[in-house]
Amino acid sequence: MKVSIIGTGYVGLVTGVCLAEKGHQVICVDVDVEKTDKINRGVPPIHEKGLEDLLRRNLGIRLNATTDLETAVLETDVTLIAVGTPFDGSAIDLTYIQNAASQIGTALRSKSAYHLVVVKSTVVPGTTDRVVRPLLEEASLKKAGVDFGVGMNPEFLTEGEAIQDFMCPDRIVLGGMDDASLLALEQLYSVFPGVDVVRTNNSTAEMIKYTSNALLATMISFSNEIGNLCSALGGIDVADVMKGLQLSKYLSVVQPDGTRLKPDINGFLWAGCGFGGSCLPKDVKALIAHGESVGRPMPLLKAVIEINEEQHQQVLIRLHKHFDSLHGVHIGVLGLAFRPDTDDMRESPAIPIVKELLSRGAVVKAYDPIANDNARKILGNGRFQTCDSLTQAITDVEAVVLVTSWREFKTLPESLAGINPQPVVIDGRRMIEKNSIARYEGIGL
Ligand code: NAD
Repeated sequence: MKVSIIGTGYVGLVTGVCLAEKGHQVICVDVDVEKTDKINRGVPPIHEKGLEDLLRRNLGIRLNATTDLETAVLETDVTLIAVGTPFDGSAIDLTYIQNAASQIGTALRSKSAYHLVVVKSTVVPGTTDRVVRPLLEEASLKKAGVDFGVGMNPEFLTEGEAIQDFMCPDRIVLGGMDDASLLALEQLYSVFPGVDVVRTNNSTAEMIKYTSNALLATMISFSNEIGNLCSALGGIDVADVMKGLQLSKYLSVVQPDGTRLKPDINGFLWAGCGFGGSCLPKDVKALIAHGESVGRPMPLLKAVIEINEEQHQQVLIRLHKHFDSLHGVHIGVLGLAFRPDTDDMRESPAIPIVKELLSRGAVVKAYDPIANDNARKILGNGRFQTCDSLTQAITDVEAVVLVTSWREFKTLPESLAGINPQPVVIDGRRMIEKNSIARYEGIGL
């Protein structure tokens, strides 16, 4: 099929290169000419494992990028909307979605053939039918269900594993306003045979995405709340508690041969310094606000956010066990991105942690394998410096704070071995064996 994708960020670009790899003809559209230029030169504007290879393999054959939305829509059969949907402090901000819908609608005015418009961005239930569809009709002067179809296809990829997630999806959720929309969507996804598909209406598809993210966020805040209680009670290590919990037959099925299936969901049942990223915080907040707007408050999810917003304080509390004041204290921060294998700093717990350290007078040097550049744009260059290696970040510091669970940080005990005196280590991800470090502090310990 011929597909145009509006918005060439993490989701749009990954979707574009993967659909091209699967044989579709893809045009990636963005308002940012720097991004489209880079893509057309075979340089991904974001860091994502395997993205560059796939981009280069398909570029000029089945994929190109442009800022010309109208031509892209006219030359394709399906248009996916993958623009950002930030939270504006009180509700989901649909400005980008609305602009994209109006622009697509205007382009559709001069198209005679049937076209399918699909929302891939995460939007609160009702948005596709009640916001996107009317804007498309208004701008195109055409009728949805007759001249064009409207669908909703949420994306479940995880940054850092995005290509793998897209190419081998765990599920495909297809929402549609009618059978024709669903049929066209099914054709688009027929290149993923054997994957479980949920075929439903647009609002349900929208809700599936929020429900999925809300569950993950809830599991993390639940683990953090338990961890904070373990610390307060003393003599209990939340890491052991969670290991014990995860051995429940409900969380890791015992197979007939005695081995266990260890589902990835257990990774969310683990205490740490909080969740971040471009999705979990904003999506949970948007769902809460949406619930309130229809008179259905969501106290459980509100608590999930409140716990998360406080969680980085656990790092500060542990530092203050060793330093009355952080003024002039040299601290090495390990990890800046919100999760490993990405350079994405959006809502990373590293931001409030570093800001608090700086506001208390600490001198901070940080190392992230790929997010250093993005971090400097957010955290400045004063008493905050980035380092080129783990060794540099832990040398000549009095404390080390581990924020992102990059695999490379597993080597911290060996890297610290030659250093004297030993800095205190605050393990914000509970990823280091506590007895392998002389002065160890962990969340929930
Ligand atoms: P992003 O900010 O990385 O990319 C959005 C892109 O859209 C930007 O490049 C921007 O320039 C472009 N854009 C905005 N308006 C445009 C317009 N009118 N025409 C053309 N381009 C336009 O965002 P993202 O992280 O890719 O997220 C996109 C959506 O997907 C969001 O709703 C997000 O919640 C959802 N989502 C994100 C992830 C993730 O891990 N990042 C995962 C699943 C779902």
